[in-house]
Amino acid sequence: MTETLDINITQTSKSKLPETDLQNPTFGSVYADHMFIADYAEGEWKDLRIVPYGNLSISPANTTLHYASTIFEGLKANRAENGDVLVFRADANARRMQKSAVRMCMPEVPTELFMSGMTELLKLDREWVPTAPGTALYVRPFQLAMDPYIGIRPSSTYQFLIITGPVGGYYSEPVKVKIETHYTRAAQGGTGFAKTGGNYAAALKPAVDAQKEGFNQLIWTDAKTHEYVEESGTMNLMFVINDTLVTAPTGDTILNGITRDSIIQLAKDKGMAVEERPIKVTEVLEAIENGSMQEAFGAGTAATVAPIKLIHHDGTDYNLPSVDGWKHSKEFLDTLNKIKTGQIEDPHGWIMRI
Ligand SMILES: *Cc1c(COP(=O)(O)O)cnc(C)c1O
Repeated sequence: MTETLDINITQTSKSKLPETDLQNPTFGSVYADHMFIADYAEGEWKDLRIVPYGNLSISPANTTLHYASTIFEGLKANRAENGDVLVFRADANARRMQKSAVRMCMPEVPTELFMSGMTELLKLDREWVPTAPGTALYVRPFQLAMDPYIGIRPSSTYQFLIITGPVGGYYSEPVKVKIETHYTRAAQGGTGFAKTGGNYAAALKPAVDAQKEGFNQLIWTDAKTHEYVEESGTMNLMFVINDTLVTAPTGDTILNGITRDSIIQLAKDKGMAVEERPIKVTEVLEAIENGSMQEAFGAGTAATVAPIKLIHHDGTDYNLPSVDGWKHSKEFLDTLNKIKTGQIEDPHGWIMRI
């Protein structure tokens, strides 16, 4: 670690903001004017800098290009009514990236470096945080190995970068999902709990196949028996059964989502029973059939809450009618949105004001 967190700032000479439609941003295609970069070499993070957003120069032998030595995070900055920029639980993202780093033999980015880099970047690009309801500035911190070496070994050099881009209100129509019983996302002892590139590359074919069959997303099951539901690949899975919030425990194979954790806390706050335990596919299907399943939804930063209206398993569709208008999903979504935009009190200290 450098002794002081001096960040060298080079501002862009031409902002892209005037030609950007901040009211209707599309996810993942527009990036703000600047990016944060730190280099790791000789055992320390150095040369912390903010530069105009632009291409990187990478050796064709770069180890990440060949062996996927890359980890990432995702969070959102929101606009409060008074214009302040608010960030939700960023320290939890910093800690999770450290866990991913350890699994991938990468040096950890200290929380202080993560937070200072993000804060300075957001200060500089604060006008990029959109104001329309439901919109946000998506923040994507990531870390990659930089050694120009095609042998297989941990790299000795790395970069940590943060890019940001405005994203639209992602209010999603209730989705149709398929319980995957052939392919596997994560196995015991594997990397499922880490946000590392290879997990997502390997999940593409099953997801594309499911989309061709008319489903929006997959529900992954355990690798060994395919008898237990796990998560959705970018979202954790939650059920309301008999007024109890039920979700699978995180561990090796299920990513420890910050939205999941926040919803569990909100449920406890309002006195709702919460169970974190293994959930059998048969339990889910039976609960739908006997009417005790009130709601099912995905929980993740992109959509926050994505209600599920149909679950497909092994040739059969199970419809999840909205008994009381997705009451719980809507309430969790609404409470989280209000905390994130400073409209209601933040009792758990989740918000940081930039
Ligand atoms: C990022 C992610 C989630 C959701 O995590 P949040 O912190 O809530 O955004 C869930 N599952 C996987 C596999 C993910 O990569």
